[in-house]
Amino acid sequence: MPIQLLRSLALITLLAPAATLIARQATAPASTQAPSTGNAKPEDTEVWEPVPKAVTPGDTCGAAPSDAIILFDGKNLDEWVSVRDKSPAKWTVADGVLTVSKSEGNIETKRSFKNYQLHIEWKVPADITGTGQARGNSGVFLASTGPGDAGYELQVLDSYNNKTYVNGMAGSLYKQAIPLANPGRKPGEWQTYDVVWTAPVFNEDGTLKTPAYATVFFNGVVVENHYELKGETRYIGKPFYKAYSSAPIKLQAHGDKSEPLSFRNIWVRELE
Ligand code: MG
Repeated sequence: MPIQLLRSLALITLLAPAATLIARQATAPASTQAPSTGNAKPEDTEVWEPVPKAVTPGDTCGAAPSDAIILFDGKNLDEWVSVRDKSPAKWTVADGVLTVSKSEGNIETKRSFKNYQLHIEWKVPADITGTGQARGNSGVFLASTGPGDAGYELQVLDSYNNKTYVNGMAGSLYKQAIPLANPGRKPGEWQTYDVVWTAPVFNEDGTLKTPAYATVFFNGVVVENHYELKGETRYIGKPFYKAYSSAPIKLQAHGDKSEPLSFRNIWVRELE
């Protein structure tokens, strides 16, 4: 073996442990050992600014707080348009409740959102018929990225006593995230979703910078815990991301023959 090669090999052998150590240090998790506090004072770790904005909470847990954007309060559909042609939404509003009009297709908010907290209540009619995905199917698209069912669907379905694929039951992020529990109520009873949505972020060339995350409480029970989405939810095929900057929230008029669902008390709080 030439002497130069031998020298190089010796150098690599010498440096390798150091390089491994550096690599380990770079990826090492945060220390769990309490550091010595030395002469540190309690004040050193106090943060006083910026002061969080004051928000008046709703009278009850589901009621809109003072800084919420009210998307539906039982009166009208002023905040909504038809997905098909962006004309005023024509679902039925009666007795403070919004009911799906299947022939009118999906509706979405006029406003677009990035990150937010969402509250929405829904009810499967007591006289619901059908089975599986054809029994009280609707959906809340946390971001509507195009026509039809394009986007990220939080499934709405009668899952009280209705077998279907578990990544398509109520509380699922459709065909991606199985709910952690099934706290669904009987048809005829109101149910709630409280969602924290972290929108995906894209680079200028359209590639993914950071993925979308969703946390979902279903009737107060956590069913999705900071779930990292693999892309848009899709009926057929694997999910993938499609760049967008902000998007409406969409409600689904599902084409099955079962009786239409109702919604009420929909509000959103934008987050940084
Ligand atoms: Mg659906």
